[in-house]
Amino acid sequence: MDRFTRVPIAEQDPKVRATNFDEVCLGYTEEEAIVEAKRCLNCKKPLCRGNCPVNIDIPRFIHHIAEGDFAEAARVLAEYSALPAVCGRVCPQEEQCEMKCVLGNKGDAISIGKLERFAADWARENNIEVGRAKEKNGFKVAVIGSGPAGITCAGDLAKEGYDVTIFEALHEAGGVLVYGIPEFRLPKETVVKHEIENLKKLGVKIETNVIIGRTVTIDELMDKEGFNAVFVGSGAGLPKFMGIPGENLNGVFSANEFLTRNNLMKAFREDYDTPIKVGEKVAVIGGGNVAMDAARTALRLGAEVWIVYRRTEEELPARVEEVHHAKEEGVQFELLTSPIEIVSDENGWVKGIRCQRMELGEPDASGRRRPVPIEGSEVEFDVDTVIMALGTSPNPLIPSTTDGLEINNRKCIVADEHGKTSREGVFAGGDAVTGAATVILAMGAGKEAAAAIDKYIKEKYNK
Ligand SMILES: Cc1cc2nc3c(=O)[nH]c(=O)nc-3n(C[C@H](O)[C@H](O)[C@H](O)COP(=O)(O)OP(=O)(O)OC[C@H]3O[C@@H](n4cnc5c(N)ncnc54)[C@H](O)[C@@H]3O)c2cc1C
Ligand code: SF4
Repeated sequence: MDRFTRVPIAEQDPKVRATNFDEVCLGYTEEEAIVEAKRCLNCKKPLCRGNCPVNIDIPRFIHHIAEGDFAEAARVLAEYSALPAVCGRVCPQEEQCEMKCVLGNKGDAISIGKLERFAADWARENNIEVGRAKEKNGFKVAVIGSGPAGITCAGDLAKEGYDVTIFEALHEAGGVLVYGIPEFRLPKETVVKHEIENLKKLGVKIETNVIIGRTVTIDELMDKEGFNAVFVGSGAGLPKFMGIPGENLNGVFSANEFLTRNNLMKAFREDYDTPIKVGEKVAVIGGGNVAMDAARTALRLGAEVWIVYRRTEEELPARVEEVHHAKEEGVQFELLTSPIEIVSDENGWVKGIRCQRMELGEPDASGRRRPVPIEGSEVEFDVDTVIMALGTSPNPLIPSTTDGLEINNRKCIVADEHGKTSREGVFAGGDAVTGAATVILAMGAGKEAAAAIDKYIKEKYNK
């Protein structure tokens, strides 16, 4: 293996994995991880690290892997990240750390994500302890939502000795990691549950089935239940639709509902009762990670699947690896195509989707070329299910039940770069503030807010 070529990683065969929900990527062996890690130049000014949203000391953890000291590699990762086994699997590394790796100038960038995943998995499989909490300091913090933002904020505060309770609306903790991202990309029992267990070991209490704004309000948590500060990490779970005719037909799902039924309520398993009806021909509208996850899930449930996306492959916002895997498994792509109507049969079920072909025009405000309809280019596809994966926005419940909590015109909570909101003692971060984004950005926000909450409480109570 030369310095400029990546050690390939084992994956399930595409034909086999398209029929099961087991993880696609099988991970590096110890020997493979060492060979890959040895390619790293241990740069004095590591550009990879500068492009990591949580500033992980990438050369240091890779160096420990190269030396065969996997436990130390996992400890380095734990200094910066509460979820390395998750990030190693789902972060868009090709746009972050790996994009800046100097080896990428001449050949393959180091497989930083796969090495991160290797070290975190190794530590889990070998029961290595990577974090400890200080003695309790007598202050209570409530964390709303158990996604990556809430998990990170809670973990960091618990390590500092705070008495932390997470309140989660659903019956299981993990946020999008359990209800959104499918099992074949992120195993729930082994990986996600382990991270949640680590949090509990730090003393964090998790109360599920509690909807803040309904069961109890933020004001009540602070005024009656004695919480000194609150972190809102409630995500952006409200699906968007296109506003085209036919969106109310039977057989139209939001990707959120479709994926939640499958992931959290295990509709794909015959021994579970959750109903899910996926037809024989499915159109998934959108081009992000959510669209790829919905398409690949529908494929595994036995359907023939098309992604319908209005720009070209170059603009697809999904991770490159997910697009590659989707294609390998047999998902088909109708690019430069935009739906204009979902067509009904005589019983109110979907029987097709009418679309318009597009071409790319001048760049829009986002800098991407705007898709423009081509006149007279309408086409109709025979499908019996349509899944809308067009993005999500935050649920207005918490702002509407919390006095003085400002939101912007996108319904996102307004917070500064440390998570401070317009309401004293209330901090926020993750998708609830940014709108739908990424796991690592939500984690970064949770980390910033934990530091700001610590500072706020110490200053307020003169500690
Ligand atoms: C299908 C899918 C695939 C994705 N794939 C990727 C990927 O590959 N890579 C990547 O980086 N990102 C991906 N993302 C985006 C990423 O998962 C999110 O950006 C991230 O999870 C946001 O974290 P969060 O903690 O802010 O919110 P969430 O993970 O959404 O967690 C918020 C939690 O708050 C709870 N909650 C909401 N309201 C209340 C309330 N009133 N009371 C109590 N609890 C409440 C919710 O039930 C939820 O559990 C994906 C998203 C989806 C949906
Ligand atoms: S830029 Fe690449 S080679 Fe340099 S330290 Fe980072 S991973 Fe290693």
